Formats: sequence, structure tokens, C-alpha cells
Amino acid sequence: MAGAAIAYEVRLADLHAHLFSVTLTIQRPVALQLLSLPVWIPGSYLVREFARNLQQLQANQGGKMLAIKQLDKCSWQIQCTAGKPLVLSYQIYAFDSSVRTAWLDATRGFFNGTSMFLRVAGQENVAHALNLLADRHLPDWHAATGLTPKKINRRGFGSYLAADYDELVDSPVELGPFWSGSFMACGVPHRFVVAGAPPGFDGKRLLADTQKICEAEIRFWHAKPPHHNYLFMLSAVDEGYGGLEHRNSTALICRRKDLPRLTPDTSADEKKALEGYTTLLGLISHEYFHTWNVKRLRPAEFARFDYANENYTELLWFFEGFTSYYDDLLLHRSGLIDQTTYLALLCKTINQVLQTPGREIQSVAQASFDAWVKYYRQDENTANATISYYTKGSLVALCLDLTLRQQGKTSLDAVMRGLWLRCQGGPMTEADLLGVLAELSGRAFNKELARWVHSSTELPLKALLERQGVSVQQEPAGLAQRLGLRVNESTGIQIKGVLRGSAAEQAGFAAGDEWLALNRGAGKQASSWRLSKLDDVLLYAGTANKFDVLVARDKRILKLALKLPAPATRWCLALRDKKLVGQWLN
Ligand SMILES: [Zn+2]
Repeated sequence: MAGAAIAYEVRLADLHAHLFSVTLTIQRPVALQLLSLPVWIPGSYLVREFARNLQQLQANQGGKMLAIKQLDKCSWQIQCTAGKPLVLSYQIYAFDSSVRTAWLDATRGFFNGTSMFLRVAGQENVAHALNLLADRHLPDWHAATGLTPKKINRRGFGSYLAADYDELVDSPVELGPFWSGSFMACGVPHRFVVAGAPPGFDGKRLLADTQKICEAEIRFWHAKPPHHNYLFMLSAVDEGYGGLEHRNSTALICRRKDLPRLTPDTSADEKKALEGYTTLLGLISHEYFHTWNVKRLRPAEFARFDYANENYTELLWFFEGFTSYYDDLLLHRSGLIDQTTYLALLCKTINQVLQTPGREIQSVAQASFDAWVKYYRQDENTANATISYYTKGSLVALCLDLTLRQQGKTSLDAVMRGLWLRCQGGPMTEADLLGVLAELSGRAFNKELARWVHSSTELPLKALLERQGVSVQQEPAGLAQRLGLRVNESTGIQIKGVLRGSAAEQAGFAAGDEWLALNRGAGKQASSWRLSKLDDVLLYAGTANKFDVLVARDKRILKLALKLPAPATRWCLALRDKKLVGQWLN
């Protein structure tokens, strides 16, 4: 926008080369102006080095090209003079279909500001303007963003304004011929855009269900929401899943198959589709809950982001874990899933945690702090050495909620609202949580948090659930769990992970092996069997519980002696007392 101290202009330079072109005008630069591009995007705790996609940086002042000195991997110094308008131009390569960076091709465009916009040192807190240029060859393309429009056309192209750099880069932009719908929730306008939706997509149903979730969450926190409008940007793809929260918008990815459909399939497919759609609603619920829990109420360490380095906090178990606890719970409270479905989803989370040996090694506070090098850099050892602050964090929330409710004085809902008031919807510490817990429950929770959050001892899930009317039962688990293997069976049996202390580990299986065959019996009774699925193992082993197996590793065939352990079980939750469960869930 003409006149703004800092103004960016974005053009779709080349769809097939996946290049955006960015022009940045700084009205009043300092001499030797410094510029830098973030190395990470808030909400996704990994150094991603966005500068790797920036190219052809040029600087110009009064029509004269200037020398540029690169200082490190993500910052530059411009040999300019002070006070006269400085114009930077560069291109951004955009070919990552995730919600974290940028994408451009002939079907769609999307970007996060952290991938696109150089930060002007010393002027981070002034208003930043963004001009989105329409392409005359793409008359059916629209633009959508959570930024405040200043002068835009009916397709959304034109100029927008952000109060500062943080707001600019916290407002991703969706571009393309997307589906669009809108609704009001508690008086706040909400828009939902979907890229890549198939023709059979039931947009009306998605809007109606999302509206229920938004209203339940606004009412959960307080009557008046902290945002004046909200935008959901969903990219529907063949395979993919994920979301990233922003202050008044979110970017989501789901499978096309998981979108609600105008024409239901056969009953078996319909059940699967419904499960997939429930997963999508859970994602919507999760990201919208973050509008309060992490975008505003946030770790004290995130009071100001350092875009050039890792930002460490021990509190992701609270911000991701508690958000995960409430995402499905609020689907139930919105009337979108019943008690039985809720318990099935909860049980899935419990089994995930119980089947992760790393829960005995790492606390959720450590997992939070180490997210940058562990959770976001998963490998074959992840399950053995780490625990997810999402899943176990959500079970910490469950334990707190049930403990508070069974004491009869308060609930976690009231604690969340109490925290919001105490911290005025801003930075918080663990001491704030302890303070609100003590205030509302009348007793200290230091011991519980020390055990549940800062140590790796087991959570008292069973006792708390049974006291709340849920019966905890055991059901047979599959062979993978019995053996302690994580496998991929799309082409043969590929070993992805070997769990600590398992029969598979004792036999000598390793990640990367392909499990080829099983030999059983001896002498004349000996027989060898080629395996293609894990289920084949029990078929060919018969009653034998000790046999040799063949695996391929680095082109060698290795013979391992496998001893089948006793059958494994997993948790199964059943509704015992509908009324008691209702007091908790409703
Ligand atoms: Zn989250």
C-alpha cells in the first residue's frame, strides 16, 4: 500500500517453476539496513531454514542497484543510505504442500509470511502492508487471508494491513479457485475455504458442523471471543493430514475421502468415511481451540518470538496436550459424537501411550523442551526414547480433570478459564497453572504435576476412569504389538521400528529389515514359508512358538531365532455408569 512504512507486494511469478516474486519497499531505512528471514514458523517447532528457498535478492535505492552483504544463513546487510526509500526484490521457491511453508502451481497457491517476508530490523513493530497482485491469466483465482483488508477487489486481491511483523507472518494466504462458505458463531463472522474439494463434497454440512464446534469453544472460554473474524483454509489432498494454528485463522490439510459427502457410499465405506470425517472435525476443533490456548494464553518464553533461533519451552504438554484433550471432548459437547465414540477415541490415545516404551524414559516436560530435535525429527528410535507431549499431555489433562471433578470442588474447564483471567490471555508459566489449581480446588497440585509432568511414572488412568463410571477392560492386541514391531505392509513386511525389550528386539530384528520368510520344524518335518503380511506368521507357525525367520538387511539374508511371547492385550473402555460419565463429558 502506498505510504506504509513497510510494504510487500506478492506476484505469482511462474506457476510451473513454483516461484513467487516479492517486492519489499522500506520508506525510511537506516544506513546499512539489516534484513532477515525466519528459520522456523511458530506452532511447528523445527528449524526449517526458510532462506533455502529465497533467491535472486536485489536492492535498489533511487534507481541505483546496491551491494548486498550476506551475514549468515538468514540475514543480509544492504549497502544503502538512511532515510530514502529502499526497494528489495527476490523470488521464493514454493513447492511444499504442507501447512508450514509455501506452495504454488497451476491449481493453487498458499504461503506463510515466515517463508516469504524479509524482516526489517528495527521496524518490526510498525504497520506492515501487503499487496496481493492478481494474475490476469487466472480470472477464477481468489485470495483469502485473516489479515485486515484495506482496498481489495471482490476476489480478495489488493491491499491488506498488519499491525506489525508478527501479525503479518501469523496470517497465511490461500490463493486459487477454492470453494468458499461462511457462517456466524456467537456473532463473529467465520469463513471456510477448501482447495482441491471433489465434486461430491458436502460443503453445507462442513459449515454447519464447524459452526457447532466454534460456538461450543467460544462458550467454553467466555462469552466474548478475542477475535473479530476467523478463516479456515483447508487443502484437500489424496493423502495428508495436519494443521497449523494462527491468531484468527488456521491452515489445514485433510484427505479428500474424509470430507463429508453429498451422496453416501455403501454402508462399509460410509462407516470408514464417517471415521475420517470425525478425524477432520477433531482437527478443526483442535486448531480453533488454539485461538485461545497457545496463540494468546502462551508460554512465557513465547512472549516475543525469536525468529532466528529455537524457542525453548517445557510447556508444550500443556498447550498441545490440553488442546488435544479438549478437541475431541468438545466434539462430544457440540453434539457431533456420542459418549461411546468419545470413549473409543480416548482409548486410542491411551493405547498409543501405553504402546510407547519411551514413556518410561522421557517426561512430557522434557519432550516439550526437546521437540526441536526429537518430536519433529522422528526416526526408528523415537518410540523407544521419547513420548509425545500431545498424547501423554492430553492424558495429563484427563487425570487433572477427573481428579478435580472427583474432589467435587471444580473442574479443568474452570481452571482453563481461571488461567485465562489470571494471565489476561497472555504469557503464562507452570507456576500460574499451579496457582489457579490451588485457588480453585483448595489444595496444592505440585505433587501431581511433579509425577505426571516431570517424571516418567505411569498415570493413574485406570483408577480415575473407573471411579468416573468407565470400566477398563483388556482385549487381544495384534501380532505387531505382541512381537514389539512397527511395520509397513504395503510391499512385503518392512520393519519400521523395533520396540525396547520386545521379542523382536531379542531375536535381532532391526529397522530397515524386510521380513521374508519363516522356517519351522526340523528334519523331514521342516518347511519354509514366504511371508507377505504379518498375519501370515501365525498361519505358517502353527502351534510352534519358537522358529527361525529370514530377513533381508543390506542385501544379506540373515537367519534370526524368534521366540513368540504370550499374546498381548490392549485397553478397551466401556460405559458402565452413563450418568457419572455424563457428569464429566457434558
Ligand atoms: Zn496443536
